[in-house]
Amino acid sequence: MREHFDAIVVGAGPSGNACAYTMAKAGLKVLQIERGEYPGSKNVQGAILYSDALEKIIPDFREDAPLERHIIEQRMWVLDDESFVGSHFRSDDYNKPPFNRYTILRAQFDKWFSQKVREAGALLICETTVEHLLMDGDRVVGVRCDREGGDVFADAVVLADGVNSTLARKAGFHGEIRGKNVALAVKEILFLPEETVQARFNIKEDEGVVIEMLGKITEGMVGTGFLYTNKDSLTIGIGCILDDFKSKNPNRSAPYTLLEKLKRHPAVAPLIEGAEMKEYCAHLIPEGGFFAVPKIFGDGWVIVGDSGGFVNAAHREGSNLAMTTGRLAAETIIEARTAGKPMTATTLKNYKQKVDESFVMKDLHKYRHLPDVLHQNNQFFTSYPELVNHAAKTLFTVDGADKSSKERDIRSSFRASRSLMGLMSDAYKLWRATR
Ligand SMILES: Cc1cc2nc3c(=O)[nH]c(=O)nc-3n(C[C@H](O)[C@H](O)[C@H](O)COP(=O)(O)OP(=O)(O)OC[C@H]3O[C@@H](n4cnc5c(N)ncnc54)[C@H](O)[C@@H]3O)c2cc1C
Repeated sequence: MREHFDAIVVGAGPSGNACAYTMAKAGLKVLQIERGEYPGSKNVQGAILYSDALEKIIPDFREDAPLERHIIEQRMWVLDDESFVGSHFRSDDYNKPPFNRYTILRAQFDKWFSQKVREAGALLICETTVEHLLMDGDRVVGVRCDREGGDVFADAVVLADGVNSTLARKAGFHGEIRGKNVALAVKEILFLPEETVQARFNIKEDEGVVIEMLGKITEGMVGTGFLYTNKDSLTIGIGCILDDFKSKNPNRSAPYTLLEKLKRHPAVAPLIEGAEMKEYCAHLIPEGGFFAVPKIFGDGWVIVGDSGGFVNAAHREGSNLAMTTGRLAAETIIEARTAGKPMTATTLKNYKQKVDESFVMKDLHKYRHLPDVLHQNNQFFTSYPELVNHAAKTLFTVDGADKSSKERDIRSSFRASRSLMGLMSDAYKLWRATR
């Protein structure tokens, strides 16, 4: 007899867990399949957890979720080779519960989330890879796993299989992933005593700091770096658009070379000094934005999370979009089932409508031109970081030169690097791409 479920969820990352949990909680018969040894074993993230998205799924998650630190300070740095110009936003408001953002360690967090999914009633099978979707004409009716007798059937299959989106590509639901639409990121977890983390970042107890970085650290490639405080460790990483490693990489730097260079930067080195590296990983991030989102529903299937390209690279948000799309897909399937409707494209279209009406698509739409603008204008990652750092140094160095002369020096350094028209056009392009 063939095994039949209301829904099969492929993948146990944030999107798959959010979807499986919501459906199981509503009483659906849910099977979740994860290729890793356990949920989280294959997953990579910075990682900042955005409370709002999880709160909408598990309102009391703070009671037992493995959270590292709540964020009270956000730093944004623009770096040249020796210095950085930065903005820091720190507010004691962020110390008032309920906290808005946390650092997490994905291996622990995914395990916890998965436990909740199982408690809600879903069946989880690990160490099992879904190799194909089973089709009846154009309709997805189940999945084939790499196990003997591994065909399982369901009314709806949720593709939560992450950035490579292998199953959707094999089934022809969308094309090959383009190198300009994904970033290759590397990160390390560096261990330090808790008191050292607190002293170096001027924080106490469970408070945390986020540092986002851009500038010469990516050697002209479109990308960013980050440094986050965990309880007794720091997460440091850097990522650049995959195509740029081929086309805009004069030094032929490998991703780990960029990370080593970032770790040696004078602004970063003192913060991580003496830390012991315990974990290194590399992963892709879908950063193509609005225009790279494929079709996300069809007869018997929906795509959620990274598999659908749902990442807001401008704000470094991914897991919250993953959880939100997972939840919205689940709600659509639940509604259809309650109404006794078949899981056809006509019914599952409501998922797309929900995603369009949510912050997910609104934000991707807002920044829809940003990936191209950044890609076509190297100066944002090369000359501008140098110019703003030079400007700050000129202005803040007290050397007997009068301030008007300093301002003239700054203006002429900008003009020497970029014409007035070029400067105005860059400002316009950036404004247009982020308004
Ligand atoms: C270096 C880095 C830093 C990041 N930092 C942040 C951050 O700070 N904050 C943030 O919000 N986001 C961050 N992101 C993005 C975030 O990690 C992703 O958006 C999020 O993990 C997407 O969740 P997902 O469930 O869609 O995919 P994933 O987390 O990738 O999960 C997919 C799961 O599917 C499984 N799977 C894949 N194929 C199969 C198959 N065929 N059969 C069975 N199982 C399968 C995988 O093993 C995996 O467990 C970061 C990403 C990276 C790489």
